Amino acid sequence: FRRVLFRSSMENNTRNNPSVAVIGAGMTGILMAIKLREAGITDITILEKADRVGGTWRENTYPGVACDVPAHMYTYSFMGNPEWEHRFAHGSEIQQYMERVSAEYGVTDMVRFNESLDDCHYREGKWHLTTSKGNQMVVDFVVAATGILHHPAYPDIQGLDSFKGDMFHTARWDHDVSLEGKRVGIIGTGSTATQIISELSKTAGKLTVFQRTPQWIFSVPDKEYTEADKAPLRGNQSLMTKLSKRYAFIMRHTFTAAVTGSKTAHALISWLTKRNLRKSVRDPELRAKLTPDYKVGCKRLVISSKFYEAIQRKNVHLETTAIERISERGVVTADGNEHELDVLILATGFHPFNFMRPMNLTGRDELSIDTAWAKKVQAYRSLCIPGFPNFFLMLGPNTPIGNYSVIAMSEVQTKYVLKLIDHWRRGNLQTVEATEEAKVRYNDYLKAGMGKTVWVGGCQSWYLDPDGDPAMWPYSWDQWVKELEEPDLDDFCRGTPAEIVPIQPAEKAA
Ligand code: NAP
Repeated sequence: FRRVLFRSSMENNTRNNPSVAVIGAGMTGILMAIKLREAGITDITILEKADRVGGTWRENTYPGVACDVPAHMYTYSFMGNPEWEHRFAHGSEIQQYMERVSAEYGVTDMVRFNESLDDCHYREGKWHLTTSKGNQMVVDFVVAATGILHHPAYPDIQGLDSFKGDMFHTARWDHDVSLEGKRVGIIGTGSTATQIISELSKTAGKLTVFQRTPQWIFSVPDKEYTEADKAPLRGNQSLMTKLSKRYAFIMRHTFTAAVTGSKTAHALISWLTKRNLRKSVRDPELRAKLTPDYKVGCKRLVISSKFYEAIQRKNVHLETTAIERISERGVVTADGNEHELDVLILATGFHPFNFMRPMNLTGRDELSIDTAWAKKVQAYRSLCIPGFPNFFLMLGPNTPIGNYSVIAMSEVQTKYVLKLIDHWRRGNLQTVEATEEAKVRYNDYLKAGMGKTVWVGGCQSWYLDPDGDPAMWPYSWDQWVKELEEPDLDDFCRGTPAEIVPIQPAEKAA
């Protein structure tokens, strides 16, 4: 066990060139490193638990994995990709794109692979980090670019471990297991499951889909881009930007507006979604099973032009009877039927509220993140947590999410973070720490906007926190961007660290 002490260039670290540790080399971590460098910050370390960059697109390799946001919108604004093969880029294409951006911008060389952050402790104005390899670092800023959906949720079903066949979660796909001709069961019907079902239904011997709750499915046909589509985009960033903006405009005024209170947009999206079901599934019994009883968009809208065709294939069975338990041979439903399976796939989603955990994160006055979040997982502007100075949580609670491009969200947040770091560099802020009062006010403001959204429409989804409150942005995209344009310094602690209001024991004990 080798312990190396990294004093992250503390000696020559001026306030103008702070040391920054970025946790995670996924889409956001790559972006943050690029932008920090552009701002003249050179002391950057990226810690990555895996052996490659890419985040979600490295981890999700299941059959059919693709991004249901149009590819030309799911790109960094500064590096379009003329080579996208499909309107909805496949996972491997996106992974290649991420690796290319990371290499071209010199980010890959900054990453310490196979090294995760175990412990992150704020003491005397600095973050003290201990990694999984026992290495230690001391830095001015920590940016958690750890993503939202990366902690697989395993279903709490009796007997799960007793299954004797092959079983894995969608984010831990076992490519050694052949599924061709096999009896495959899949639990779940979310965005991930629908992509897998569309693909596996072509090769599995028998595919049984265990659906607890039906999903609304919006159809946008995929398109394979030809040479004629790609050629004009090559070397023409402004054309790619135009294309991306066109998609973004459509998304904002349809999907985003529909879920955040526009009655017209919601009526349109609902009508199209319901028509898709009506036209695609003619068998009334099957259609009834596939018809949700909640508003369109309450759960994240699934985008698929293939699912309804797949679920009607002869080798596919939609099982809607509740699962009672898992046996050695398969899945036993409440009607006593045992569905014998060779392979069981758990498309049961993720724990979105873990964020950067399980790392030990301790802010000032020994405040742990578990204590800070004991009552509720909240942040100021999704990014700043009172008690955790100079720490930013990218894509934190109430980031807009929805069906919009998460890259666009990260770009907006990254600019905001850079502006805050700049205030610190100029001495306008001694430490970058949102006040408790600002966090409470911000979250009250979010809560006030939720009533008109569809997420409070009586469905269960990963959008909701344990209290049933949507951890989403309830207003328009444009408003979000405008509010993150300039940090309001009155919402941040002023004075030297010693003068900043101590975190009260009562708050700690919350
Ligand atoms: P999810 O939307 O949370 O869906 C999980 C599914 O598992 C649901 O159908 C759920 O049923 C079911 N389930 C969970 N526990 C169960 C249990 N104990 N018994 C029976 N069923 C159970 O997860 P996901 O499909 O992985 O998608 C998560 C998110 O990832 C998406 O909403 C999306 O934001 C993102 N994603 C994006 C893309 C993309 O193309 N951009 C692709 C895939 C995923 P209930 O509905 O009854 O809870």
